[in-house]
Amino acid sequence: MSSLLITNGRLVTLDADDRFVENGCVYIDGNRIVDVGEIAPGSCSADRTIDAGGRLVMPGLVNAHHHLYSTFARGFTPPGPPARNFEENLKNLWWKLDSALESEDVYYSALLALMDAARAGCTTVIDHHASPSCSDGSLDQVERAFRDVGLSGCLCYEVSDRNRDGEGIEENERYIRKCRESADDQMAALFGMHASMTLGAKTLERCAAAASDLDAGCHVHVAEDLIDVRVTAERDGQSIMDRFASVGIPGPKTIFVHGTHLEAREMDLMHSTDSILVSNPESNMNNGLRVSPILEFLRHGVTVGVGTDGISSHLISQARAMYLHQRTDHRDPALAFAEASKILLHNNRNICNRLFAEPRGTLAPGQLADVIIHDYIPFTPLNANTFYGHLLFGLSFSRIRTTIARGHVVVDDGALPQLDEEAIRARCAERATAIWARIH
Ligand SMILES: [Zn+2]
Repeated sequence: MSSLLITNGRLVTLDADDRFVENGCVYIDGNRIVDVGEIAPGSCSADRTIDAGGRLVMPGLVNAHHHLYSTFARGFTPPGPPARNFEENLKNLWWKLDSALESEDVYYSALLALMDAARAGCTTVIDHHASPSCSDGSLDQVERAFRDVGLSGCLCYEVSDRNRDGEGIEENERYIRKCRESADDQMAALFGMHASMTLGAKTLERCAAAASDLDAGCHVHVAEDLIDVRVTAERDGQSIMDRFASVGIPGPKTIFVHGTHLEAREMDLMHSTDSILVSNPESNMNNGLRVSPILEFLRHGVTVGVGTDGISSHLISQARAMYLHQRTDHRDPALAFAEASKILLHNNRNICNRLFAEPRGTLAPGQLADVIIHDYIPFTPLNANTFYGHLLFGLSFSRIRTTIARGHVVVDDGALPQLDEEAIRARCAERATAIWARIH
């Protein structure tokens, strides 16, 4: 692998010292950062030098919950009357769309979404996949897209009983084993499940046993809507978190998504088991649902991350939605600005560092070389007191000029030079038309 030197950057290191470096350099060798700071001119040479021209340089972003397969939903209107609630939204749109995907669609939907992610400065994506018509081997198709774009990914398959009992258990087991045996750390795996309401007792026990045998964390939606709470209470006579805890699902590598309708006691259970909660505010709002009460989770000591839940691949906009929602919900103009920023920048990388062996998320020696250059030159002071303002009011609307993932330049002056974008987009347009025609 080759070496790379970024010069003349406004560095936001997000490291232990939270340094901001004017006219800073980042030296990369292979897939690791070797040196960061005010490197003397001529003190090191590299195979390629990128002059940041005073632009803002920071670590690559992490998406803590995505559904890459949702790509071809863009502009699609399901047949029949509009969904009146969350259950109808699942049945009329998402469960028809994912069932219409063929193996090649899985690859192209992931490819296009990951190209968008790279252009939005995201270098690691934690994905939750479903394609019931081609579940076996589907995670290999998603992985192929990650490797073609060059990003890091943590994958799982969404087990549920909605089509057949325990569908997807074997795919999770196979892929977790594959990642364990892989020679590199680009891909990681969790054991995926849809939600308590679509998991019968036997399937949940099988999932929990398989995850335990493989020493894998789980990735599951929790109380996104009240229907999940109600079905679990009526069918199982338990709360969702009690049900999951009874089979050993919670833990430091387990991601619970949404958690919108949990009791304080269930938040305490998440905290006591060091489990992860990932909020997806734009997705909740788009579905006409309550948004995860992130400040309550933080008060209960829960590690909170943020994801996009398939609505886009743009992370900074989720942090914006997160703090804006808290302010309007609580009628308080002082809430959640720092919390949303820290969740995006600190918590998401800490979540990743539980799932991957390679450390990432700071500009520091020894870190994975995931580095982004925003097309953004600060025009007001840039320091620890002002950075979140630049993040949420400036960087959220700026273009990414360069994305370096695992030491490779994957976005170069806004383009993805290693991919034939025109051909990919043409192929995706064909696939989308065919998928939509299959949905009735
Ligand atoms: Zn989701």
